[in-house]
Amino acid sequence: MEEIYSLSLDEIQDYVLSIGQKPYKAKQIYSWLYKKRIDSFDEMTDIKKENIERLKSDFYIENMQLADIHIAKDKTTKFLFKLKDGNLIETVLMVFDYGYSACISTQVGCNMGCRFCASGLLKKVRDLSSGEIIGQVMYLQKYLDKEGKRLANLVVMGTGEPFDNYDALMKALKIINDPAGLEIGARHISISTCGITPMIRRFAKEEVQYNLAISLHASNDSLRDSLMPVNRAYPIEDLFAALDEYSSTNNRRITLEYLLLDGINNSKQNADELKKLVHGRNAYINLIPYNTVEEKDFRSCSERKALEFYDMLKKRDISVTLRQKKGDDINAACGQLRAKAMKEKNATS
Ligand code: SAH
Repeated sequence: MEEIYSLSLDEIQDYVLSIGQKPYKAKQIYSWLYKKRIDSFDEMTDIKKENIERLKSDFYIENMQLADIHIAKDKTTKFLFKLKDGNLIETVLMVFDYGYSACISTQVGCNMGCRFCASGLLKKVRDLSSGEIIGQVMYLQKYLDKEGKRLANLVVMGTGEPFDNYDALMKALKIINDPAGLEIGARHISISTCGITPMIRRFAKEEVQYNLAISLHASNDSLRDSLMPVNRAYPIEDLFAALDEYSSTNNRRITLEYLLLDGINNSKQNADELKKLVHGRNAYINLIPYNTVEEKDFRSCSERKALEFYDMLKKRDISVTLRQKKGDDINAACGQLRAKAMKEKNATS
């Protein structure tokens, strides 16, 4: 049995033809899935009973099973989902002035090994399928449907490295973005990568308008090597060469994410080096307060120091933003809830 969310409209059409049905039936099925957002095939009232039975024997709808939910004071809501094979993944719903935003995972665990990150505490178990990626977004949209609300934004910044599960992600985003599908605008979708340059080059050639964010976090190679092992394979010069390729085919502004790690990456020297990296490029720096992870020694900057670093960058003519902290009281950093649940599970088994 296959999960139906993994199928593009064309693939559903092939299936419909293969069972001797008219092609327009595919659009009806697609619309039941993504517009009416049904939970079971039985709700498809304009599909014949026998065809519903056929669909049910060939496919299932990836309805995520909720294992845990945490709602923060600022309404950031973290969902822990249990997949069919028992693996756990996290998805976060955030509320901004401009609307609701979902932060989704692309893998169970992560192999990138960033020193500060909770996701890497548990190595990658497997990639998520397109259906499981879409399943997270559908769960959140159905959750919001109860209040007549709509997901406005999607950020691929949960657990996992999106460019290490490229094909499944691109397929899922196509369906999420499709006007006949979930219809979240491409400009409202952002993908964050730790900097796998061959995949950035591949992404540069895609004819899509998704936003690209890079987890930079350091202004020179020796610091980035020590924080993010990926930098040893794809150092800063190579990273920015790949970004220049992206910019040559795409005029979207690149986000450079920069965690505020006190005493590690917030000196004047770091600001000077960042100026050299950003200068002349269509990019801006998004400073991110660090969510403390129990197992890690890193500390975020105080608000005063964060603003000091922000000013240092401003004085150097760098476009910079300071991200608001979200869901601090519910372990909203990537992988924290899953790592905690796994720890508790191991302690009791
Ligand atoms: N692998 C991708 C996407 C997942 S991580 C990437 O590296 O971009 C999403 C973002 O959260 C990255 O910028 C990551 O560096 C950051 N991050 C990881 N741990 C964090 C923490 N404890 N607090 C705040 N941000 C964190």
